[in-house]
Amino acid sequence: MNITVQKYGGTSVADIERIKDVARRVIRSKKPDQGLVVVVSAMEGTTDDLIRRAEEITPVPSEREMDQLISTGEQISAALLTMAIQYAGFPAVSLTGIQVGILTDDSHTKARIFKIDPRKIFELLDQDTIVVVAGFQGINLKKDVTTLGRGGSDTTAVALAAVLKAEVCEIYTDVAGVYTADPRIVPGAFKLDRISYDEMLELASLGAKVIQNRAVEFAKKFHVTLHVRSSFIEDEGTFVTEEVDTMSMEQVVIRGVTLTLDEAKLTITLVPDTPGIAAHIFKSIAQANINVDMIIQNVSEKGFTDVSFTVPRPELVKTKNLLENISGEIRAGKVTVEEKIAKVSIVGVGMKSHPGVAAIMFEALAEEGINIMMISTSEIKISCVVRAKDGERAVRALHQAFDLDRKQSK
Ligand code: ASP
Ligand code: MG
Repeated sequence: MNITVQKYGGTSVADIERIKDVARRVIRSKKPDQGLVVVVSAMEGTTDDLIRRAEEITPVPSEREMDQLISTGEQISAALLTMAIQYAGFPAVSLTGIQVGILTDDSHTKARIFKIDPRKIFELLDQDTIVVVAGFQGINLKKDVTTLGRGGSDTTAVALAAVLKAEVCEIYTDVAGVYTADPRIVPGAFKLDRISYDEMLELASLGAKVIQNRAVEFAKKFHVTLHVRSSFIEDEGTFVTEEVDTMSMEQVVIRGVTLTLDEAKLTITLVPDTPGIAAHIFKSIAQANINVDMIIQNVSEKGFTDVSFTVPRPELVKTKNLLENISGEIRAGKVTVEEKIAKVSIVGVGMKSHPGVAAIMFEALAEEGINIMMISTSEIKISCVVRAKDGERAVRALHQAFDLDRKQSK
């Protein structure tokens, strides 16, 4: 039996009319002899709403109760969608993550799946029943409900696609696919037909919100083909797959340009340039559970150096206080912060085999008179930190410099 997993996000099931639309879409796509598993998110806004209510009671709700609470959103949308499918005359059953047997570890609110028992789903598919699964949730060995982190329904869908050996995992969302850049910033941005897992991973962690990062990691590990597409139109979206077709994939040097505005930069001056100091600084920051992104250390002058790094903006105050304490301990200078920064990045597997990509990027920014404050690279990504007000202009300049709208079109 061919199996397809479809996942519908919160905007696709935002109200009853949309749920009915999804039911129609599910039924339309159902082929004879095909097993159809549908994973749903909570109706748009529901999870945020539940979190807000908890926060009205206590600033530190217990994580177990938090999961008990926020996992309910998906149960509602799953049951409503199932009723809509049944009303249209098709056999369907909804299941919670617990009923499916999605086993996770104990880390409440960000649990990881380690096992799924597919038997119940297979039984239902054998009876040609459409199975609707509440996303985002599982159960740990203590039989407590867990959730998989914000956006976790994507991971439910991909994990199910992996154990059921589905042909494809379709991620239905409110955009038509993955774009070369945010179309609100670059009007000429182009929808990509295909992209590799690694590129999608970079784009997802750089703020392309179409799919949860962890879901892409899962898809890559278990070779699940993803199809990111809109639930409002019929057109095909973007396939996320292995780099099988390396030749044609690498012809395109840069796949996309992204902008993130959610980091802030800190600098600690006059740091003694001796072994162990950087370790001391970043160990203290890590112990406070703060995620550091880019780091630069300047050349040392007379035994002292400046160290700058970026952190998520909500962590700025906490990091600054911590850094001031550290500065006292290591007898360094003052701590300065810069809040208004933007990170522009270019992503593409073709970078591996094309020299000079960084030069083109820096030149394009220079031509716009945009100053680069920090640079970081990976095998398939180059990021530059610039002033926040230059961010959008930088994205447009890079989109053009790499000829993106032209190269991707057929
Ligand atoms: N409802 C959860 C959230 O809002 C999970 C999801 O939508 O995938 O994050
Ligand atoms: Mg989502």
